[in-house]
Amino acid sequence: MLITELKNKDTILSLVSGKVFIINCHGCKDIHFPEQEAEALQKELAAGGNVTGIFTTDYICNPENLKLRLGYHAEAIAQADMILVFSCGVGVQTVAAAYEDKKVCAACDTYALPGYQGVTPLEHDCKQCGECFLNLTGGICPLTACSKSLVNGQCGGAKDGKCEVDPDMECGWERIMRRLAQVGRLDALKCPVQVRNYATDDEVKSK
Ligand code: SF4
Ligand code: SF4
Repeated sequence: MLITELKNKDTILSLVSGKVFIINCHGCKDIHFPEQEAEALQKELAAGGNVTGIFTTDYICNPENLKLRLGYHAEAIAQADMILVFSCGVGVQTVAAAYEDKKVCAACDTYALPGYQGVTPLEHDCKQCGECFLNLTGGICPLTACSKSLVNGQCGGAKDGKCEVDPDMECGWERIMRRLAQVGRLDALKCPVQVRNYATDDEVKSK
C-alpha cells in the first residue's frame, strides 16, 4: 500500500515533448491515488492532439503483466516520443526498463505507508521517498540503484563499472548515464539536482 501524488502540473507539462502515450496504474491506488486530477490533466493533454493513447491497468510493476498488456498498444506506443506514467516509482522503473529506447517520465511522487507495494516479488525497488527523481535519472532510481542512494552521483569509486560498496553490483550511476545517453537526455544531468527535501518525510508521517 502506498500513496502517490501528482507532481506539480507545470512540472508534468514541462516533461511532455512530442507525442505521448499515457499509462495509469491503479494496482495500489487504495489511498490517495490522484485519479480525478490525473484524468483532468490527461484530458487536457489529449485535447492538444498529441496523445497517441491512454491505457489504465493494474500492477505494471510485474514485467510479464506489463509486457502482455502493453502488447495490445504496440502501435500507439511506437507512434509516441515518450511514455508518461501515473504510478508509483516501481511502475515507472518497470516501464523504463521495458522501453529502453524511449523517454519514460514519472507524473507522480510516491510516499510510503506500511504494507506491500505491488503483488509479486518486485524486479525494481522504490524507497517511496516522496520526491521522485526518475525524470532526471532516465527511469532508474538513484536511491535504490546506488549503494549510497546518491541523488547527485556518481561518487567516483566505481571500478570497471562495478560499485565500490558492492563489487557484485553494477554502479547505479553508470547505468543512469548510459540510459540517459541512450535516449538522448544527458542534458537532464545539467539540471542542478535539487537538494533532497527531507521535509517531505515529515509531511508523510503527518498524513
Ligand atoms: S526516486 Fe526512487 S525512491 Fe524516490 S519515489 Fe522515485 S523510485 Fe521511489
Ligand atoms: S560506485 Fe556507483 S553505485 Fe556505488 S556508491 Fe558510488 S555512485 Fe553509487
